[in-house]
Amino acid sequence: KLYNQVQDLKGNIRVYCRVRPQLNGQSNSLSCVDHIDDRTITVLAPTENGKEGRKSFTFNKIFSPSATQAEVFSGIQPLIRSVLDGYNVCIFAYGQTGSGKTYTMSGPNELTEEGLGVNYRALGDLFELSNQRKETISYEISSQNGINMPDANLVCVSSTPDVINLMNLGQKNRIVLSKAMNDRSCRSHSCLTVHVLGKDLTSGNILRGCMHLVDLAGSERVDKSEVTEDQLKEAQHSEKSLSALGDVIASLASKSSHVPYRNSKITQLLQESLGGQAKTLMFVHIAPEYEVHGETLSTLKFAERLA
Ligand code: ADP
Ligand code: MG
Repeated sequence: KLYNQVQDLKGNIRVYCRVRPQLNGQSNSLSCVDHIDDRTITVLAPTENGKEGRKSFTFNKIFSPSATQAEVFSGIQPLIRSVLDGYNVCIFAYGQTGSGKTYTMSGPNELTEEGLGVNYRALGDLFELSNQRKETISYEISSQNGINMPDANLVCVSSTPDVINLMNLGQKNRIVLSKAMNDRSCRSHSCLTVHVLGKDLTSGNILRGCMHLVDLAGSERVDKSEVTEDQLKEAQHSEKSLSALGDVIASLASKSSHVPYRNSKITQLLQESLGGQAKTLMFVHIAPEYEVHGETLSTLKFAERLA
């Protein structure tokens, strides 16, 4: 039933939003989030003349700060399961650095079972479902883990521990790289790709599905005065690719006849998984602290254009 609901959404684009809790030690600090319900979030938005204002945004689904990792996963499970039916799926975590993208996609630094993010749960779920179907369809599932996507290796996986090993490897690379690049990790996209090949044991028909789980570069604008020239270049590059991604998804959502895939590497790479029968989820992340409400507003405005 949920599966059909997901399919009916306009242009196969859906936008979800997750608001992270205030972090330890700052629970008394002012929040810029005024109100949240299932589909609408209202934030404080000071007007030009300094008067307090409010602005509301509506999305397909909103997860409040109390949402658990399991609840978040169950909200996107139908989308993930459709990979085994031969759909291409892209899930993007979008938001400023510190808003909880990595928490959603991978989990907290100190991983516990409850903390496991979408990546682990998705793979575990695909293994489980493919196993349930094994009398009728034989599946091969392989994963690819990479930073900035192109050069990653394809690894065949058949269990959750395989995936955890693979992702730990990716994480290590990322840490080394981020040291080398002065915390480049928040300026680059990181992506786990899952390929599915299914063979119908009666008809012999083959189906292929593909899923990209993308932890996007931080969406914040950098302060030119606070970074080196190289860091600025890097930041401008990710800014450009994020806005190109937004343009592609916005034109898919509005069913425009021209989709500007060619404007960035990420949209070129993911072209087959964006548009057509493919299913796309833009999962925006909100940091509630008042100090960053400017970035919060621009994140919500970016997402509003796609919903
Ligand atoms: P990003 O990847 O967007 O830069 P992180 O996922 O690293 O942000 O989150 C920033 C900090 O907030 C981390 O310490 C993370 O563990 C914590 N955090 C994020 N989301 C949640 C959440 N839903 N519940 C509890 N802590 C969270
Ligand atoms: Mg992160």
